[in-house]
Amino acid sequence: MLLQIRSSATQADRDALHQLCRELGYELRTLDAAGRLVELGGEGAPAHRSRFEDLRCVQRVLDAGEAGELHARGDRPDTQVAVGDARFGGGAVSILAGPCAVEDRERTLEIARAVRARGATGMRGGAFKPRTSPYSFQGSGRAGLDILATVREDVGIAIVTEVLDPRDVEAVSRVADAFQVGSRNMQNFALLRELGRQRKPVLLKRGFSATVREFLLAAEFLLDGGNDRVVLCERGIRGFDDFTRNVLDVGAVAHLKRATHLPVIVDPSHAAGRADLVRALARAGLAAGADGLLVEVHTRPDEAHSDGAQAISLKELEGVVADARALCALDGRELVLPPSAPTNGRADVPAPDTDKEAVA
Ligand code: PEP
Ligand code: MN
Repeated sequence: MLLQIRSSATQADRDALHQLCRELGYELRTLDAAGRLVELGGEGAPAHRSRFEDLRCVQRVLDAGEAGELHARGDRPDTQVAVGDARFGGGAVSILAGPCAVEDRERTLEIARAVRARGATGMRGGAFKPRTSPYSFQGSGRAGLDILATVREDVGIAIVTEVLDPRDVEAVSRVADAFQVGSRNMQNFALLRELGRQRKPVLLKRGFSATVREFLLAAEFLLDGGNDRVVLCERGIRGFDDFTRNVLDVGAVAHLKRATHLPVIVDPSHAAGRADLVRALARAGLAAGADGLLVEVHTRPDEAHSDGAQAISLKELEGVVADARALCALDGRELVLPPSAPTNGRADVPAPDTDKEAVA
């Protein structure tokens, strides 16, 4: 393990570091004249890294080395996570698309059929919506889950939907192929603990003010809890400018692909906050190495119950899928597409070029 020591570290702080090294059985070696870089030799353990991070004199753990946590890449190959027909990681790229929120049954079915016909292997859509204001539309709750169950059955598409409260995990689990943990809940540890006990995959979104390290530690709660099907989602972090809703951290995507074996996907919609930039950000995310996309799509963006400004049209989704296909071909990855006919129920999936509503 490599530690960066604060320039303000006092002798007492350094004594505490030496004491902890003795306690955990590490040998400490100072690497530079200023004593700002130290190397710890010895048997690592996942829990040790946090013990050192808690010390006042430690600015950063630069390289956890042997003391790797469960998310750490180490020499592990990519973990591939399947969500219904969708697969993320290990050279597989999939697209999840759908409305911000579950709307009425017909509209939600219409969107699901349309996104599936254009290459999405999973549908996103929140029945429980985490909104910044308590006065905004909060989602349709359990009624929305019933609609998602119909969509799953009739359209034959995997469902990814958000869970906000540990008390709803069981109900959501009955219809979801993967749980979504939203940005505002990335550090809801009670929720993470509950989802750690589940067997279904968890799509964990980065908190909009969370560091990459905090993001990985939130994932660690799920892994440590016993759920190894975790997909990380970069969805933009808060910046100082307001021309986009958030700043898509493409560097974090590239870094995460090196730092962890977990799949990483990108949500260009909440990063951009405006439909006209979504396609470019989706492209950037995939080019940085993302294993998939989570995109807000609506057949009538102007009528969306929430986040209409960032919802792309079906025509624009076709562009996103075409880009994904080209980028996957470029670096030898597979763009996973839905099986040609729905596995269940009605087969009335419109062909992309015959659906006039596709053009917004
Ligand atoms: C969403 O996916 O609709 C959502 C609320 O996203 P986030 O948690 O990233 O804001
Ligand atoms: Mn949204």
